[in-house]
Amino acid sequence: MTIDTSKKIAIISDIHANLPALRTVLEDIDNRGIETIVCLGDIVGYGPNPNECCAIIRERNIPSLMGNHDKVAIDLEKIEYFNEIARNAILWTNKTLEPDHIAYLSEMPYVRTYEPLTLVHASPCKPKDWNYVLTMGDARTNFECFDQWICFIGHSHQPFAVEQTEQDIECHTVENIPLNKNNRYIVNVGSVGQPRDRDPRSCYVVYDPDEMSLHFRRLEYDIKETQQAIKEAGLDANLALRLERGV
Ligand code: ZN
Repeated sequence: MTIDTSKKIAIISDIHANLPALRTVLEDIDNRGIETIVCLGDIVGYGPNPNECCAIIRERNIPSLMGNHDKVAIDLEKIEYFNEIARNAILWTNKTLEPDHIAYLSEMPYVRTYEPLTLVHASPCKPKDWNYVLTMGDARTNFECFDQWICFIGHSHQPFAVEQTEQDIECHTVENIPLNKNNRYIVNVGSVGQPRDRDPRSCYVVYDPDEMSLHFRRLEYDIKETQQAIKEAGLDANLALRLERGV
């Protein structure tokens, strides 16, 4: 599957089985007339609607990537690396996911490149190691690991854009970021279904090659509906609480 990178692209990530959040984000993307959507992985894990979220991504033919929660939910490998709350949610997701969706998630690649963009869930250096890009030092190291103009990442659920100029690198956390052809970027698109930057609103990014800009969108969604579904699924109450806190 290829996509047209000469038009606007919506980049979403870390849905984490949060159906009301996913619906809200997709509606916003549709309302803006953006036809191309890509997902950076972690469709499932933590949240109460893994089957519904997988079904939507598949129906809409949205290319996605392997996320650490997708991976562990399908094979339970290295589940001991997760804390108890996450572990219980992973086991619940594993037994709840329909076999067809497990097969679909198993096929996910770790990297997708659509020139001049590259997409990876965690970090471009070692995509399968699930390392975080959190510091400027991490960013500096990771700029060496891809050749494209912009690398979009997810994983930490904390939106930012790091720009590499000829002289140095700088971090932007503003809503609109002008793009410069001569510089390079690592962009964390934030999380649709479990934001962790103390802003509980869903986050995604619009890449606009005509305007030469990135735009971070933040959207309120029905958190209470997700919290109710978490309760009904018997998942840990902390997973509901953290959504309203954005942590
Ligand atoms: Zn995640």
